Amino acid sequence: MTTAEAATRVGPYQHYVYAYPHKTAYRRLPDRPSLASLWAAEPKDALSLYLHIPFCEVRCGFCNLFTRIGAPDGLTGAYLDALERQATAVRGALGESDDVRFATAAFGGGTPTFLTAAELDRLCDIAEHRMGADLRAVPLSVEASPATATADRLAVLAGRGATRLSLGVQSFVDTEARAAVRPQRRADVEAALARIRDTVIPVLNIDLIYGIDGQDERTWRQSLDAALAWRPEELYLYPLYVRPLTGLDRLDRRRPGPGADAGGDPAWDEQRLRLYRAGRDHLLAHGYTQQSMRMFRRADAPPQGADDYACQTDGMIGLGCGARSYTSGLHYSFDYAVDMHQIRGIIDDYVSTGPAGFARAEVGHPMDAHEARRRHLLQSLLQAEGLRLDDYRARFGGTPADDFGLELERFADRGWLTDADPAVLRLTPEGLAHSDAVGPELFSPAVRAAMAAYERK
Ligand code: SF4
Repeated sequence: MTTAEAATRVGPYQHYVYAYPHKTAYRRLPDRPSLASLWAAEPKDALSLYLHIPFCEVRCGFCNLFTRIGAPDGLTGAYLDALERQATAVRGALGESDDVRFATAAFGGGTPTFLTAAELDRLCDIAEHRMGADLRAVPLSVEASPATATADRLAVLAGRGATRLSLGVQSFVDTEARAAVRPQRRADVEAALARIRDTVIPVLNIDLIYGIDGQDERTWRQSLDAALAWRPEELYLYPLYVRPLTGLDRLDRRRPGPGADAGGDPAWDEQRLRLYRAGRDHLLAHGYTQQSMRMFRRADAPPQGADDYACQTDGMIGLGCGARSYTSGLHYSFDYAVDMHQIRGIIDDYVSTGPAGFARAEVGHPMDAHEARRRHLLQSLLQAEGLRLDDYRARFGGTPADDFGLELERFADRGWLTDADPAVLRLTPEGLAHSDAVGPELFSPAVRAAMAAYERK
């Protein structure tokens, strides 16, 4: 690569945008608005419910999710007590009307199956009895790890209506799992998959990662084929990132340079792009359709409800100390950290919060009409099916080109946009491969500034 090429090169791995704005753009809300006031005028007939369980058996080297390793005696019970207090407060703030309905539910983390079978039963009770979600009538997605996907837990989840079980495998090659600081044996992963397939849960998702130290096309293909052998209804292929304060960052294996998630190593970018293309083509050749850069769905899989990470609408209720909630005017949550010591402190605070503390929003980012347009454009464009222009016009008036002409022109110049269908704004296959560069370029200056000023902890 020449110096000039290097200067204009757009690194494909800038930032995984699964929600806009990112939590690092959230700030303490000085007025601590009451949830009752925030939700008073919101539509509440098709809400999404998300319950966050911030415990894992290990801390994977690549993970910057809000979670801690293990739980001292009694902490999971105390956490569920707090979750129940929060659910009661939030449900009260939504009002008594019969119009409050949940259309989807998800348990994420962390690892929800870190909880025992009895605790998972209680978690479902909280969703049903405190929040009023009818878990057997709506799509219910649950994340699990191989070691905790035990038969008794799976039986509880299936019995309570789980429709999707997502298993974080990352690699079927033991040395790669170790290199990603996720020590596990393939035999244990295969045993967990057998238990999941023995349980009647309609959709199995398997997460895999590419770009691990020592991984090449051959070993990547081994992991893909090992996953395909289970005919999962969904597969997520994630590029590896080394994010600040994570285990891999501390090991300094591939320090990405300044700029948090920005990839600074052209050779590593090239490896990830190569493995991405190989993985994508392999899955397409095996009867999968591409939904986004990361997500592939078996063509004959049963239809699912809203996807975990593609929620474009407002009306999200998140419970638990790492969960986000969205109204049309505010995205809010609790404090956020990656460092283990800080996370433990935030969980301890959460567990000791009383009902009054759960009735107000503490940390968040206000959303105005312009941010709502950005969010819609960003999250639609990152889906393989793209953004329907008539839908955009009906929601906001005008077209994305009226609002975001410069950005779209830049993407078109790079060959990332196709005009094959004049009714749809859609990424080309190369554009989709560069989703993690497309997304950050659509961040507003205000969100960008807030993220840059965030003090990592
Ligand atoms: S990747 Fe999943 S299992 Fe690993 S630490 Fe993060 S949340 Fe826990």
